[in-house]
Amino acid sequence: MREMKRKESKLKRNLTSFGKVLLPLLLSLSLIGCGIRNESAKEKQEAYSTDLFAMDTYMTFTAYGDHAETALADVKDKITELESLWSVTDESSEIYKLNHSGGQQVAVSQDTAEMIEFALDMAEKTDGALEPTIYPVLTAWGFTTGEYHVPTEEELAQLLKSVGYDRVKTDSDHIALEEGMMLDLGAVGKGYAGDLAVEILREQGITSALLDIGGNIQTIGSKPDGSNWRIGIRSPFGEGSLGVLEICDMAVVTSGSYERYFVGEDGKHYGHIIDPATGYPVDNGLMSVTVIAKEGKLCDALSTSLFVMGMDKAVDYWRAQSKEFEMILVTEDKKIYITEGIQKQFVLNNAYRTMEVHTIGYEKDS
Ligand code: AMP
Ligand code: MG
Repeated sequence: MREMKRKESKLKRNLTSFGKVLLPLLLSLSLIGCGIRNESAKEKQEAYSTDLFAMDTYMTFTAYGDHAETALADVKDKITELESLWSVTDESSEIYKLNHSGGQQVAVSQDTAEMIEFALDMAEKTDGALEPTIYPVLTAWGFTTGEYHVPTEEELAQLLKSVGYDRVKTDSDHIALEEGMMLDLGAVGKGYAGDLAVEILREQGITSALLDIGGNIQTIGSKPDGSNWRIGIRSPFGEGSLGVLEICDMAVVTSGSYERYFVGEDGKHYGHIIDPATGYPVDNGLMSVTVIAKEGKLCDALSTSLFVMGMDKAVDYWRAQSKEFEMILVTEDKKIYITEGIQKQFVLNNAYRTMEVHTIGYEKDS
């Protein structure tokens, strides 16, 4: 009897140490499906790819498995629906109605309400670097019409009076903007839509997919053979990619002034991301910011707002966020700054081998 008890408790001890050491490891491997190569799976999982032009950009979706085609058809439907809700120019969209409500409260769909809530929350967290009500200023610069010009200081000062995320009133699915205020979800919409797309695919049993939503990358799991996805990070200096990032089950989003800009009569470059503190396009020495995290919406919101913050504030923000995301910053003087948590997964392309690469450490002086 005593012998049996001893055996039992030994077994318990063994199981406990198994649980402590191995179980979490196995669980994380099976849940994420990252880093386990499975050569035989390669033949079993057929790839299905399809394209879509929506939200003013090209999208390419690839998913693996038996249900890939029907699941991606649902994704396309969802994104088309979201575009019709969030377009700033389509007169029947919910955002258009809000922007032309003359100060009246507007009832919106759950997707739109949650999206606005998220954008306002991120605006607060980034101390207004993300400013979802910047639209009137963006219009003055011509970024919404393509009729670019440099507004006067007075014009900008006047328009900035209609900017302020903290003045948007939300009451579950009822939103109210003050007269003259306008929402533009361009900085978070694609990331948000990407997360909803991922949700649809997961619900339909897809465990391996790569979504390119106008340059925003969202992945589910790893490639079917268990290897990581190899994602090219766009070069802000011209065609091609700066380097390759190996990821699994993550989203990657890049923002930069090189994406859309005009050259003024004064010869200066004016980019499409506005510093809400001044009303002028960001001009802080950064060329691009790439953010890597679980959720596309977080990546999208942060890539835009960290770009606005500039190098020092972006690094402080990253350190304060306790490993919620990683980032790659590229400066005008051709240096790359990459956070400690992702540096081993990034390899520079040959064309950019001479660029200086710096690691941003968790500790201030690393
Ligand atoms: P992204 O490409 O995600 O960085 O978003 C850039 C787009 O967001 C611009 O084309 C504008 O429509 C809008 N935008 C520009 N500046 C800001 C800002 N400070 N906060 C929020 N949205 C902005
Ligand atoms: Mg963005």
